[in-house]
Amino acid sequence: MPSAPINNCMNTTLEQEDPEIYELIQKEKWRQYSCLELIASENFTSQAVMEANGSALTNKYSEGLPGARFYGGNEHIDVIENLCRTRALKAFNLKDTEWGVNVQPYSGTTANFSALTALLAPHDRIMGLELASGGHLTHGHQTAKKKISSSAIYFESFPYQVDAITGLIDYDKLEVNADAYRPKLIICGASAYPRDWDYARLRKIADKHGSYLMSDIAHISGLVAVGEQSSPFIHCDVVTTTTHKTLRGPRAGLLFFKRGEKGTRVGDLEEKCNFAVFPSNQGGPHNNTIAAVAVALKQVAEPGFKQYAIQVRKNAHAVAETLAKHGYKLASGGTENHLVLWDLRPIGLNGNKMEKICDALNITLNKNAIAGDTSAFVPGGVRVGTAALTSRSLKEYDFIQVAEFLHQAAQLALKIQNKSGKLIKDFVFALEQDNEVKALKVKVQAFAHQFPMPGFSPDSISESAKH
Ligand code: PLP
Repeated sequence: MPSAPINNCMNTTLEQEDPEIYELIQKEKWRQYSCLELIASENFTSQAVMEANGSALTNKYSEGLPGARFYGGNEHIDVIENLCRTRALKAFNLKDTEWGVNVQPYSGTTANFSALTALLAPHDRIMGLELASGGHLTHGHQTAKKKISSSAIYFESFPYQVDAITGLIDYDKLEVNADAYRPKLIICGASAYPRDWDYARLRKIADKHGSYLMSDIAHISGLVAVGEQSSPFIHCDVVTTTTHKTLRGPRAGLLFFKRGEKGTRVGDLEEKCNFAVFPSNQGGPHNNTIAAVAVALKQVAEPGFKQYAIQVRKNAHAVAETLAKHGYKLASGGTENHLVLWDLRPIGLNGNKMEKICDALNITLNKNAIAGDTSAFVPGGVRVGTAALTSRSLKEYDFIQVAEFLHQAAQLALKIQNKSGKLIKDFVFALEQDNEVKALKVKVQAFAHQFPMPGFSPDSISESAKH
């Protein structure tokens, strides 16, 4: 006969069990619905993805790979992980004879460090795009005084840059520096680069020194999958990505490795990459996330996703054109992908202030360094991404309106700065009192509420969470 439950909180809803956290999630849903989400690394994932992500799969341990686990009871988990691997290859149009993939990385950061662990010995040399040029921390970030990322702590990093005038990657200088530095690995990919990559040129440079070439397509993977950006798979040895940006899945990472004849450069990458993920850098895979990634990858293979990716790019173009019409300067002069890098320095504003005023206006974006910035603490611009709002069905004409809001935000910021002076705390105090800011926020919120919300219904949000 079943005995009385040991713990009576096991089958109560979140709302009953923890009203405090429940309410905070409600508030966050309301914020997402009420704001214009322009952070280039974010997106709104689907209800199906969230269902898988919040499923009972979170209960299971499954260290190892399908068919070779360190725990029992993995018959269904094996099928799920294999499905995810198959779908990942299919999403990027890859043959399993030429490429393999590890779907276990918890995030982009662990996918990248696993790739470095696989390819390099401690203190081997790497070259990645400098953070201030739009690169990512995990590509070897260090400052003059401190090695910041593990990728710089455990390996020797010599970054390359974009040209400060054109905003484009300076491949010539990269080649000269690579000739002198002879890196074991060149990393391409970025967090804030509005242009496509010349993988063929990078391969040539890498081949001069027998270097590996890795591409981190975290930002653009959704576009790459459907041919809206060049494919790095033709030229690279390993490719990593996050799954939650343009790919529109849950938060996780993927590590793709090239297969080849034993004894060739890529002949042992499968073994090295799998070992680097587990046991070198991770423990048990997050099976709930892997299932959610599998769902997202199924969606990527559907025809609607190509339309989505095309629209993401058209929308970014609409933002770029509208801002340029107002006379603003954009890094590299425009965009070929999902983001615009807006250089605010010529109008006498910085990224910190623009981010603050946008927050006050229900516009969510983030400050970003612009090549040539003299202080890391005062980035010269902001990054504007279109992936998330495109998931809310905004088209070009809607993004023209979004860009008009951004223009109004910048002009208001200048007006407030004129009165408050340059100090950020005075600026924030002044904008909080400003009636024009309050009036524009109402307009922005009303505009945001016109568009549907993927993944959850705004009707489900409690009244108390809306204030
Ligand atoms: N790689 C790139 C290019 C990124 O932009 C990011 C995050 O923004 C990452 C890696 C790290 O991903 P995560 O935050 O999932 O660790």
